[in-house]
Amino acid sequence: MTERDTYYLTKLRNVKKALARNGIDAYVVKTSAEARKKALSLLRKGATVGIGGSRSAEEIGLLDALRRGNYNLFDQYADRLSEKDSLTARKQGTHADYFVSGTNAVTETGKLVNIDGLGNRLAAFCFGPEKVIIVVGRNKIVSDVEAAIDRVRNVAAPINAIRFGLSTPCVKTGRCTDCNSPQRICNLTLIIEKQRTKGRMSVILVNEDLGF
Ligand code: SF4
Repeated sequence: MTERDTYYLTKLRNVKKALARNGIDAYVVKTSAEARKKALSLLRKGATVGIGGSRSAEEIGLLDALRRGNYNLFDQYADRLSEKDSLTARKQGTHADYFVSGTNAVTETGKLVNIDGLGNRLAAFCFGPEKVIIVVGRNKIVSDVEAAIDRVRNVAAPINAIRFGLSTPCVKTGRCTDCNSPQRICNLTLIIEKQRTKGRMSVILVNEDLGF
C-alpha cells in the first residue's frame, strides 16, 4: 500500500464509523473489484433495481454486472432508449426493490450530499426503494456540508455538464456561477443526515478515486 492508500484508509474507516452513527451501514474496501463484489452481495437475484447516474458504479463494473445479471434493471441509460422510455425507467427506479447509485460527496461526519437536475435520484434516496446501495470513492470525502456543496458545484457539476455536452457557464469557466441556464443541472439539493430504517442504506467506501 502506498502512503496515500494508508492515509485514505484511515479516513475511510472514520467515515464508516460516522455513517454508522447516522444509521447507515458502511463497508470499506480496497479495490473496485471488491466494491463490485460487495455491492452484488447486497442485491437479491430477480429483484427490481433502479440506478442513479453514477460514473463510480460504471467504473467499478457494477453497471455492466447489473445489465448482465439476473435482475429486473430499470436502465435509463440503455442504448437507443427514447426520451419517454428513459423517463419511465427513472420513474420505475424510484420505487424499485433496490436503488444503486454513487454520491456527489460524503462528509467526515457521515452525511451524504447530492445535487440533481431532475431529482429522480434524490427521490429514490429519500423514499421508495427498500434498499439503497451507494458506491463512493475516497476522492468524494469532504470535511462538512459546506465543502460538499462547494465540491458538487465547482467540481462534479462542471465535469458532468461537459460529459452531457451542455453549454452551461461552468463548462467554460470550471466554476459555478449559480446560473440561470435552461440546461442547469443543479436544481435540487439533498443532504442525507441520518436514516431511520436500519439496514435500508448501505455505503461502500472504496480506497480508490472514482467518478468526479
Ligand atoms: S448552477 Fe449552473 S453554473 Fe453552477 S454548476 Fe450548476 S450548471 Fe454549472
